[in-house]
Amino acid sequence: LTQLYAPLTALANVRVDVMTALVSFERVFEVLDVKPMITEPADPKRVPAGGVAVEFDDVRFGYPSPDRYSLASLEEVATVGNRGGEEVLHGISFRAEPGQMVALVGSSGAGKSTIAGLLPRLYDVDEGAVRVGGVDVRELSFESLRETIGVVTQDGHLFHDTIRANLAYAKPGVAEDELWDALERARLAELVRSLPDGLDTMVGERGYRLSGGERQRLTIARLLLAQPRVVVLDEATAHLDTASEAAVGEALTSALAGRTSLVIAHRLSTVRAADLILVIEDGTVVERGTHDELIALDGRYAELHRTQFLDRPVAEAA
Ligand code: ADP
Ligand code: MG
Repeated sequence: LTQLYAPLTALANVRVDVMTALVSFERVFEVLDVKPMITEPADPKRVPAGGVAVEFDDVRFGYPSPDRYSLASLEEVATVGNRGGEEVLHGISFRAEPGQMVALVGSSGAGKSTIAGLLPRLYDVDEGAVRVGGVDVRELSFESLRETIGVVTQDGHLFHDTIRANLAYAKPGVAEDELWDALERARLAELVRSLPDGLDTMVGERGYRLSGGERQRLTIARLLLAQPRVVVLDEATAHLDTASEAAVGEALTSALAGRTSLVIAHRLSTVRAADLILVIEDGTVVERGTHDELIALDGRYAELHRTQFLDRPVAEAA
């Protein structure tokens, strides 16, 4: 599991290095209100068995800004402190009941991926709370978080390890034929079979260079294997061509059935199926409702619907 947090650890180390370089700068530790890394609580809880509700309760969040610790911006660090950048989420509240799908839509930079990242605890909120199965994510064991929440993002984040390990991460001790089945459904089996080392091919930072679409399909295969109770999809098929998007999209849709999900999608067909749609702009929820309700409202969602969704029927374009 440490691997899941490796990027964050790396980030924190950079922060420490730069801070070490700054020690002569007297008030630096006072001034830098450094956020602690994500840590596991001393007495961790588990997500209760059964259906899982997901809740954001007045969540406020701003990214820590390690780039501001470069020596070039020393003065800036002194003036603005750790937070540097502004608050990105300004009081986000919503609830997905067990089995429900909540879709996030809104312009680029609105804060959708940030919301999605807070659920598996890539970062911690500054104010408010994120709860999974009624438990604040900060109180959960890493193991329970990992078992409960499956994530597919645009980046298709992989560990520097074998394909097998990347898949089995979500389901230790998984049988070989299950791995292949997941790879088939994610349309990746052919590629893996063609590699000299097959399932034992190293991927990730210094391994075999998978394309963006291949990485994304590998993380999708991981999700199909794990069948987590909560699924987060952040433009999960963004790098796929139309043909594989149709096939993989189908596998994903079946993976969502009966599960609680938070979905950021650029396809209307996906968003339309959501139990609740949140329109996010500048880190706030500006509209919420079902597709029909929001179309009737004729506000921002209706506008996005007219101008942004890729699969809107041509007839609706006028
Ligand atoms: P969306 O997914 O809706 O396009 P994001 O959640 O990615 O929006 O971004 C929301 C805001 O947070 C943007 O202003 C973006 O620049 C900023 N942001 C996103 N990721 C980071 C990061 N890792 N560090 C600092 N700022 C970030
Ligand atoms: Mg995004």
